Order: sequence, then C-alpha cells, then structure tokens
Amino acid sequence: MDHFLYEALPMRVRFGDNSLEELPAELGALGASTALVLTTPQQADLGEQVNGLLGRAGAGVYPHAAMHVPVATVTAAREHAARVGADALICAGGGSTTGLGKAIALDSDLPIIAVPTTYAGSEMTPIWGMTEESVKRTGRNLRVLPRSVVYDPTLTVGLPVGISVTSGLNAVAHAVEALYAPDASPVLSLMAAEGVAKMLKALPRIAGDPADATGRSDALYAAWLCGAVLGATTMGLHHKLCHILGGTFDLPHAETHAIVLPYVMAFNLQSSPDALRAMEKATGSDSPATAVRKLERSLDVPPSLAAIGMPEDGIDEVVRQAVDAPYSNPRPVTESDLVGLLEAAFCGSEPE
Ligand code: NAD
Repeated sequence: MDHFLYEALPMRVRFGDNSLEELPAELGALGASTALVLTTPQQADLGEQVNGLLGRAGAGVYPHAAMHVPVATVTAAREHAARVGADALICAGGGSTTGLGKAIALDSDLPIIAVPTTYAGSEMTPIWGMTEESVKRTGRNLRVLPRSVVYDPTLTVGLPVGISVTSGLNAVAHAVEALYAPDASPVLSLMAAEGVAKMLKALPRIAGDPADATGRSDALYAAWLCGAVLGATTMGLHHKLCHILGGTFDLPHAETHAIVLPYVMAFNLQSSPDALRAMEKATGSDSPATAVRKLERSLDVPPSLAAIGMPEDGIDEVVRQAVDAPYSNPRPVTESDLVGLLEAAFCGSEPE
C-alpha cells in the first residue's frame, strides 16, 4: 500500500427518519440556548417547523438565504443574529443555506447545526464562499464546519425529482474526485466508493417514487459520505471546470456538475487505476463514464451544457480560465484536451 496521510475532520452526525426531533438535544450538546434558524424564502415553512421544535431556544427564522451567498445578505443576517441574541445557527436547507451560516460563522464564531435537505454536501466541509459584485471569494476555515449535522431523510421527500437527481450526481462528483485526489487515502476511498454505489442505486428509486423511503435514506447517507470526502480531500479538474462554468455563465450548480461529470470521468479515470477499479465496482460497468452518462439520460438530466444555457462561444473563455488557474489532477491537461472535453459536454456527445 502507498504512503498516505489520513486526517479526519471532526464530525458529529445524527441520521434517520424523524431525527429532526432530536435537534433540541443537539443544541443542548453544544451548550447553546438561543438558535437562529436560517432557510431560503422557499423553505420558510421548514424554518418555522424547526423554530417551533426548539421551543424557548428558538430565536426565530431568517428566511433570506440565496444562491452564491451575497455579502449583503451575510451582513444583514449576522446583524440580525446579534440582535436576537443568538448563540447558535441552524441551517435548514441545501448548500445555499449552509453557505449563509458558514459566512456568518466566519466572522462571528457562532456554532452551526446543519439540517441538510439536498445532497450537495456543504455541511461536511470547512469550505466557505461569498459573492460581492459578481466576484466569488472562497476559503477553508475550520470555524465554519458545522459542529453537528442532523440528516433526516423525511425532509428530502419534497425535493423535486429533477433537483434530487442532479444534486445526487453533484455528490457523486465529489466522491469521484476524492478517489483520485492527491490526498486520497484508503479509508476515504472506502467512503467515496460506498457513496457512489449507494447514490447511483438510490436515484432511480427516487425518480420512480419520490417518497421511496429506502431511496431517500440511501441517497442522504450517500450524500453524507460524498460530502465527507469532499471536505477531506483536494478536488481536481471537474470541480475547477464547474466552478468556472457556474461563475462565468451563471449556470445552475447541480446540473452543471451532473452534465460535466461523465466527460471528466472518461478523461481522468484512465490515469488513476485505483479510482477506475473503484468506479467499475461502484457502477457495475467496465466503462463507468458511459454507465453514468446512460443513467443520467434515463433520469432526464439535461443532455448538454448548451441545454442549460452555456453560450457556444464561451468555451474559449473557460479554457483560458482553467489554464490560468493551477489545480491538482491525476492527468496533465492540455489546452486542446480542455477544448475537446468542453465541446463534447457542450454538445452532449458520448464521453470518450
Ligand atoms: P440550494 O441550496 O441553492 O437549493 C436549491 C433550491 O432548492 C432552493 O430554493 C432550496 O430552498 C430548495 N430546496 C432545498 N431542499 C429542498 C427540499 N428538501 N424540498 C424542497 N425544496 C428544497 O442548492 P444546493 O445544490 O443544495 O446547493 C448549491 C450551493 O451550495 C452552490 O452555491 C454551491 O457552491 C454550494 N456548495 C458548497 C459546498 C461547500 O463545501 N462549501 C459544497 C457543495 C455545494
């Protein structure tokens, strides 16, 4: 076995149907007494439910989380948290809501309990991001890592099938890149492979019946594993491209990840035998990229970057930015590799 360094991030997880009811106990375990609940406007009802559960420890709902974590929202939310005397934050929602909590925690040290309702995985990482005047700043800081995460699959039943599928593939992308990361290790690879296998089996079940309890439970369990390996390793070409595509053309986060994933898998896995073996096993196919693409087509994932609004003349700009920014990757990437990969993802041709 190769040399490796394994460093676990602290994590405390409660998992299971109706585990939301254990939230007051989690708040107590933190030693906190007054929690502000953060949600998006679309999930304000969930916020009220959570606030109600907390009884006297509920400091109300702040339902203004938004995509890309605008700095103005962070400032207003931090001031609101101080006004209501919050000594903890509860982020109930997807990556955008967790992102708001993290941005507040960065400057306030308020501890976070996350209640994830998508499969994005932000709750397992010390990565924060904020946007001001269209420029997104990101960083890593253990202060923003949620102290506790409550995974309650019943809260994901209302996540529309289309978002469930692309969000699940967003999680799979974390695991794929963790398998060939420079800081991969055997334990993380076990988690990543299990995350991929469980998620790929769960998504068709959810598409068949959005209330399928096993599908929802397996997908959220997989999201935990995929988020954990995202938080513990260094991502490569796939995350770099999706970051540039999302930032440059304002493309939807999870759909962009889902569409690009099979093309990066086809490009990278051949240079990483261990990751290839793990993905062959997880997909049950000797061509994991083709298997993922086939699954995506059967689950109605948009077929191409063109289909989600990327302009054709944008490829050169993405290549320029990707060439300018160093990132780790198991295979060297030339400008012409990037053009080929992006053209294929743009048109939705078969990954090679
Ligand atoms: P999101 O949080 O933007 O949510 C999308 C929409 O779905 C929102 O309107 C939300 O209210 C709604 N929604 C969420 N859960 C729902 C549910 N169960 N039922 C009904 N509606 C629900 O989307 P996301 O994909 O979870 O997060 C994407 C963002 O997270 C991106 O900005 C991305 O950069 C960030 N992210 C950060 C990290 C990190 O480590 N920092 C990791 C992954 C993603």
